Amino acid sequence: MATRRLYYDDAFETEFTARVISCESALVPSFPEAKAPAWEVVLDRTSFYPTSGGQPHDLGKLGDANVLDVRDAEDEIVHVVDQPVELGEVKGCINWPRRFDHMQQHTGQHLLSAMFQERFGLPTFSFHLGTEICTIDLRGPEPTEEILEGAERAANQVVFEDRPVNVRYGTADQLSQLGVRKKVNRNGILRAIEIESADLQPCGGTHVKRTGQIGLVLVRRCTKVRDDWRVEFVCGRRSERFARHDFQLLRQTAEKLSCAPEDLVSAASRVLAERDANFKSFRAMLQRPDRDGLRIISRVFEGTPADYLGFFASVIGKSEKTVALLSTTEDGHLLFAQSPSAGKNMSAVLKQVLEKIDGKGGGTRDFARGRLDDEASAERALLLAKEMLVVD
Ligand SMILES: [Zn+2]
Repeated sequence: MATRRLYYDDAFETEFTARVISCESALVPSFPEAKAPAWEVVLDRTSFYPTSGGQPHDLGKLGDANVLDVRDAEDEIVHVVDQPVELGEVKGCINWPRRFDHMQQHTGQHLLSAMFQERFGLPTFSFHLGTEICTIDLRGPEPTEEILEGAERAANQVVFEDRPVNVRYGTADQLSQLGVRKKVNRNGILRAIEIESADLQPCGGTHVKRTGQIGLVLVRRCTKVRDDWRVEFVCGRRSERFARHDFQLLRQTAEKLSCAPEDLVSAASRVLAERDANFKSFRAMLQRPDRDGLRIISRVFEGTPADYLGFFASVIGKSEKTVALLSTTEDGHLLFAQSPSAGKNMSAVLKQVLEKIDGKGGGTRDFARGRLDDEASAERALLLAKEMLVVD
């Protein structure tokens, strides 16, 4: 027996009573959230919307049972619940915030798709209503920034005009005469949704009553997916949430860069230019060869943790014929490292330096580490080491 779909007549009804036709244990849970046993319930009538047409199913309660999933099974609607429901009369209750959100996104999609089609000749080939973002896939040439903005503005104009959203019934021929957007080849009476003077298309989903209830339509990214253009958008409460979140991101980033949100682009460009300049000077330092082909990189670091010297040394160790003489001013760390092809002896050099300047340390031929008693003599220690390498 076909389940009567109460949401066809009134998508704003949140509570209803129905007769339980069957309640069977669900042997193979057909949805990923199912960890516990579940039951499948069929009613004579329901306000629960099953997943279809890109719109996810409703959640809510049937008696004391939680509704976990709702799906179409030909003419019947199957409610998957977390506990058995007794045959007879039952009260159903829809999770309204979730449903209303879906209605805002779904009706917004009708409107936005109509604007892309009507104004820019870009038909919609599919729709997905996600938990965060909604998408439509458009077919045709790439929608430019102007087209995305144009469709968004046109959709919001219809929202501001608060036009009625009507349900129409008729045969395929009758709907075709009314100018239905999508042709259907089904017999019998069809259901179509009309946004007054803007759109008419066949749909079995749930919609708001007036375009004002859609709230703001906010178009976001557009990316290429196979042959189509995937346009991300949000409507209503989601638009409010996204706009608020975007501003928080701008404010936090501006705080990090110590600038006003409107100066973010120039501030970020400046920081990136500084980073590039630092990288170039480090590379230039690496590339400066000595007379006999030996490169000696000698540098005293300020405000740099000793660990960082190790990182530098490992980079330098990969360069041919290179010696690194590194130290820190804060704690007098010394780090001498070479690529094996440099052919010097780091441990010996360190030992000689520590004979002249107090401190301790040791190491191997390619890598030696020490610490000066007086960190102020770091610069002198490096000069001394350099002289020894050159004389050598
Ligand atoms: Zn619809």
